Amino acid sequence: MTISTEELEAIRDSVRALCAKFPGEYWRDKDRDRAYPIEFVNAMTEAGFLAALIPEEFGGSGLGLKAACAILEETHKSGCNAGAIHAQMYTMGTVLKHGSPEQKKQWLPKIASGEIRLQAFGVTEPTSGSDTLALQTTAVKQGDHYVVNGQKIWTSRAEYSDFMVLLARTTPKDKVAKKGDGLSVFMLDMREALKAGLTIRPIRTMMNHATTEVFFDNVKVPAANLIGEEGKGFRYILDGMNAERTLIAAECLGDAQWFIKKAVDYSNDRKVFGNPIGKNQGIQFPIARAYAQYKAASLMVYAAAEKDDAGEKMAEEANIGKMLASEAAWAAAEICIQVHGGFAFAEEFDIERKFRETRLYQVAPISTNLILAYIGQNILGLPRSY
Ligand SMILES: Cc1cc2nc3c(=O)[nH]c(=O)nc-3n(C[C@H](O)[C@H](O)[C@H](O)COP(=O)(O)OP(=O)(O)OC[C@H]3O[C@@H](n4cnc5c(N)ncnc54)[C@H](O)[C@@H]3O)c2cc1C
Repeated sequence: MTISTEELEAIRDSVRALCAKFPGEYWRDKDRDRAYPIEFVNAMTEAGFLAALIPEEFGGSGLGLKAACAILEETHKSGCNAGAIHAQMYTMGTVLKHGSPEQKKQWLPKIASGEIRLQAFGVTEPTSGSDTLALQTTAVKQGDHYVVNGQKIWTSRAEYSDFMVLLARTTPKDKVAKKGDGLSVFMLDMREALKAGLTIRPIRTMMNHATTEVFFDNVKVPAANLIGEEGKGFRYILDGMNAERTLIAAECLGDAQWFIKKAVDYSNDRKVFGNPIGKNQGIQFPIARAYAQYKAASLMVYAAAEKDDAGEKMAEEANIGKMLASEAAWAAAEICIQVHGGFAFAEEFDIERKFRETRLYQVAPISTNLILAYIGQNILGLPRSY
């Protein structure tokens, strides 16, 4: 799948136009109240941006990862935050790639139109962390349904989602033939589950992220909502992670550009000791370095997206791109704070908010150390640490 530069530019232009309706003060208010940016979510849904990756036969725009990256990059470059929307774009990938024809027909058109909000992704648990195979939530088959018990943490947007893609253990760890077997993926209808056994508890975090912990107490899921084969869910989830990492990396590229522009504008403008502060190399060079980091990261992120669009494997580019882009955004955030001096800490400049927001991406959806372990072990052939 290829997309022309003109088409990409047109997409970027329309994202920019939409984002212009959501200026800093909109995000500041939401941040202060830790409120969900529902107007922004609705606008992005209605514009069709969140259905970018859904094939046209299911009501989406059938675009590839490169176009989806451009949408999220532009969103962040404009000063908006895609944390409230990005999961609607990629969580459906598990259904698209591994669901039955009936399941695709049942859910994908409604996800594309926004009638079904598929914004929740239940993988992480309090005791397992990065070690997904150690998760303890179980789904036990009883007749025509499964009964789920356990807990998830950092299940973002659960309060604003109709469905959750849930990963749970269906075969005990000591009874599986292969280490990666025994986990299964379900489309959990949270509207039904909330009536019987599902509890959502919001977690207030350093930035406005609508994240939660969720508890399952004998929650019933119809067996028809099992995606793919029972016991193969870990592979299905891994399958979608590279796309998720690439999309989040694109958000980091957007953040990096937002911070760099702010830093450049202010450094040209602000005069201290009779000169613009940007004249000083102590100010200029860290901005230049952050720009170089962003440009290099951008090449890697879009290399991942292009490979994916061409149907090629892109795990190496996706992981490296995610690491470099999150670090570039952080370098840009750091110098943006520094050049603004005291003003960086004033809410109305938006810098301290964006600074808090962009820090997340070195931890989630995968932490930098785990990417380094992947590079060391899977690419370079060094011994495994886990
Ligand atoms: C705001 C937010 C939103 C999130 N949203 C979701 C969501 O919607 N759905 C979901 O399922 N999850 C979500 N997550 C969870 C996220 O994916 C995890 O936080 C992330 O994968 C790291 O796992 P952990 O927090 O358990 O850290 P841990 O696994 O406990 O790791 C802690 C630290 O130890 C390091 N470490 C661990 N093992 C090794 C090793 N072998 N070698 C070197 N270093 C190591 C890690 O790199 C990390 O720095 C979210 C998290 C946050 C904070």
